[in-house]
Amino acid sequence: MSWKTLDDMDFKGKTALVRVDINVPVEAGRVTDATRIEKIVPTVRDIRARGGKVVLLAHFGRPKGKVVPEMSLRVTLPALEAALGTPVAFAEDCVGAPAKKAVAALAPGEVLLLENTRFHAGEESNDPTLAAGLAALGQIYVNDAFSAAHRAHASTEAIAHLMPACAGRLMEAELKALDAALGDPERPVAAVVGGAKVSTKLDLLGNLVEKVDHLIIGGGMANTFLVARGIEVGASLAERDMAETARAIMAKAKEAGCSIELPVDVVVAREFRAGAASRTVAADACPADAMILDAGPDTVDMITEVFARCRTLIWNGPLGAFEITPFDAATNAAARKAAELTRGGRLVSVAGGGDTVAALNKAGVAGDFTFISTAGGAFLEWMEGKTLPGVAALGA
Ligand code: ADP
Ligand code: MG
Repeated sequence: MSWKTLDDMDFKGKTALVRVDINVPVEAGRVTDATRIEKIVPTVRDIRARGGKVVLLAHFGRPKGKVVPEMSLRVTLPALEAALGTPVAFAEDCVGAPAKKAVAALAPGEVLLLENTRFHAGEESNDPTLAAGLAALGQIYVNDAFSAAHRAHASTEAIAHLMPACAGRLMEAELKALDAALGDPERPVAAVVGGAKVSTKLDLLGNLVEKVDHLIIGGGMANTFLVARGIEVGASLAERDMAETARAIMAKAKEAGCSIELPVDVVVAREFRAGAASRTVAADACPADAMILDAGPDTVDMITEVFARCRTLIWNGPLGAFEITPFDAATNAAARKAAELTRGGRLVSVAGGGDTVAALNKAGVAGDFTFISTAGGAFLEWMEGKTLPGVAALGA
């Protein structure tokens, strides 16, 4: 699929409506983590430098179509101004008279933030009237909110059909990285899928077995696959009612020529807590009263060997209960190997998922991956092979 970028647009003297994701955490009236705000800087800077007026469109929290004062985007202004290094004007509503008046007051290079789009019920219902009200405010639509692109909302989908539309820098980087990992990757391709449950990642596993050469399964969901192979996993987290589904995924993988790699050894403990007494046993030797909480060292060797043979890696889900030491060991070791191969130019590595990003940060290697997606649900839907409405709407 092709889409335009900022490079295809002429912003001089024009008003750009830029959909961003600045749904940042706030405590006691202050932004506690400005990461999402910092990520929109390249797009805003570029449009300003080219003489455009920047009007930011965003949602904040879940006000469900009503004005909820605690969910006003006004709280983000100081963090926005600090990140952008320029004053940011604010309009009390994203459409209508307050928005029109604030847009009319903008000079080229200036920035305006419009109030929470979700204060209107039409946002989440993808209402054409709300989209038209937004579109009337400018001449070019820029979507820089990949993380909101899995939702067909008025400010992410309907509006893109009403005016010239393009991807912002962040959206562009995300789409290119994801395409390099699953769209048209250098082979062989390995995928790591870990995390707690098979049931939350069925579509993802089903899509991956058709696209990758090696599927490494770890975390709690590996237990379900072990059960599906007739192996006892004691008191481990496992979805026994998913065994049949796991067998179907393995059959589909075989047909597609994708090898599935399960743990060969595991770290077991009797308690789920940091520092719990643990030992390493063969994957088929989990004691009846113990839980598998991590992959063992032989499994890590097997995984790093697969990484070394591959050119592309896509990763979602930790290999163990990484929040509590020592059960973060396999995740850390595999992550370090992926980082090392990436630094050496041998591997394109893309990872995403809330806990996955946390685990890679904890391992201290997130900066070495080719791309880390912080898009959460949108990243997972993309891994499931779904078309994201906000991306599709940018298509030529
Ligand atoms: P993501 O948010 O990256 O998509 P998930 O939410 O699917 O990842 O999975 C992360 C969770 O899986 C973590 O809370 C981790 O503790 C848990 N987990 C991983 N391995 C195990 C295991 N063997 N037993 C219990 N929980 C596990
Ligand atoms: Mg999670």
